[in-house]
Amino acid sequence: MTQLLFQTDSYLKSFEGRVNAVSMESRAIILDRTAFYPGGGGQPADTGTLAGHRLTEIRRSGGEILHVLDDELPEVGQTINGVVDWERRYHLMRTHTAMHVLCGVVFRDFGALVTGGDMEPLKGRMDFEFARLQRELVSTIEAAVNREIAAAREVRIRLLPREQAFKIPDLIRTKINLLPPDIQEVRTVEIVGLDLQADGGTHVSNTSEVGHVRIVDYKSKGAINKRIYVEVTAA
Ligand SMILES: [Zn+2]
Repeated sequence: MTQLLFQTDSYLKSFEGRVNAVSMESRAIILDRTAFYPGGGGQPADTGTLAGHRLTEIRRSGGEILHVLDDELPEVGQTINGVVDWERRYHLMRTHTAMHVLCGVVFRDFGALVTGGDMEPLKGRMDFEFARLQRELVSTIEAAVNREIAAAREVRIRLLPREQAFKIPDLIRTKINLLPPDIQEVRTVEIVGLDLQADGGTHVSNTSEVGHVRIVDYKSKGAINKRIYVEVTAA
């Protein structure tokens, strides 16, 4: 299994990894460790270079992380250097944390649950079971989100044994019970004092790094399901 360096250090921009396997067919490399986020939880996969060559894709497959290269492939046993496209990744970290602040505020102030979400650098959308959401509430939510960001709340990452994670009441609402039974360790992302979720993504370490969040659009997808679109800009 590849050691997932981004799980404990989301600020790691480059790393050395040993080539554990090479698939000529899929042009993919498996490393002993990686700082590249392979995508998931609404956050797209990283981009970057490996041994100086541009990666065409980074994705999960059968419990492994595949680094796909069009150029010549390294050999098993080689140690190679990986470099994450940092500007894009940092934008995604700011955006992902902004989305959790939004979830936290909407749950705390309105008791509404998130049902899904998606993001790209500095842009995202979230879906809520939020019957009461109307256009007039949008500016209230936006102001509350920016207050929480300005409060400079710490963002804390933990890796917990599954059983321990299941005892945390806050995690139940984020559908932790949908985790496959073979996952023995649960990673949690806590915005201290606001939000706690089981989450695999990369985040900034303090909400003050997010910047400013603007709710740019809102759509009713029916009586209950509502969608909120956000943009993240400099503070
Ligand atoms: Zn998340």
